[in-house]
Amino acid sequence: MSFHAKVLMVALWVAVVAGCKAKDDGSGAPTVSTAAASPQQAGAQQAADDAPPAEKTGGFDGKRAFAHVVKQVGFGPRPSGSAAIVQLQEYIQGELTSYGCKVDVDAFSADTPVGRLPMKNLVAKIPGDKPGIIMLATHYDTKRLGNFVGADDGGSSTGVMVELARLLCPRHSPYAVWIVFFDGEEAVKDWSETDSRYGSRQMAAKMGMSGELSKVKAFLLADIVGTRALRFKREENSTPELTDLVWKTATNLGYGAMFVNQPTGPIEDDHLSFKKRGVPVVDVIDLEIQATYWHTPQDTLDKISAKSLATTGHVFLESVKQLQSK
Ligand SMILES: [Zn+2]
Repeated sequence: MSFHAKVLMVALWVAVVAGCKAKDDGSGAPTVSTAAASPQQAGAQQAADDAPPAEKTGGFDGKRAFAHVVKQVGFGPRPSGSAAIVQLQEYIQGELTSYGCKVDVDAFSADTPVGRLPMKNLVAKIPGDKPGIIMLATHYDTKRLGNFVGADDGGSSTGVMVELARLLCPRHSPYAVWIVFFDGEEAVKDWSETDSRYGSRQMAAKMGMSGELSKVKAFLLADIVGTRALRFKREENSTPELTDLVWKTATNLGYGAMFVNQPTGPIEDDHLSFKKRGVPVVDVIDLEIQATYWHTPQDTLDKISAKSLATTGHVFLESVKQLQSK
């Protein structure tokens, strides 16, 4: 995603690029061993243990969601077109299929600043009785940076969506629910309209052509939802009514301290691809990491917690329930 606080972003970017260049062997191959016993690993273990019991979060199992993030990080850096992202695609598809989800795969190629790259959007489609689609979405690619494993940026929301699929795929659904895993959210080089959001732009365009786009009642995006001190502010490219629904749901569940009623400013993320085509959208994203580990090799498992994943998952589950009753 991209922030409009450009000055800070550029400063951070320069620091990140300067810090990464020396370690990047240029092959795109993983250079981080995530399996090594370390204080970081101990921190990650502690983070997995703090999950509330699933029955307190609507059945959403924070430990399972956390395990999906551990698995992703274990594949190493996962930029679009890499061997590691292919492993992740197979993992996500295998999990979804094992829950009984019907999975659609849209394989396409995108012209990027480093050439044409193969990409895949994965969609778990839960059929509904009534016309109308509720979309839940994440991106699963990670930013093309040396030693960047994206536990929070890419990993956390993907872990949440896999766990949501486990719960939602077997359920009877009044409206259809589509759980979408986008490839190519991250800019291959510098964020711009043409170098970013490859997967969501592809899907929104395709749904526009088929006529399915007009059936979408709501598009709920999760991105960077795992940080330990979770604090979501209202994102200003989001549709206010849909933001109200999610924030009110969170407050009613007792998460008012994490879903605060302050603006973030507008953020560019996958929801824009749908907003630009008239779909009501909301981006649930924690911006506070911008000042700390965002797009740095420090975005590791010890930064996130199963409790934060469970909070996000619970709010998404209950928000779907609210939307289903409308
Ligand atoms: Zn990112």
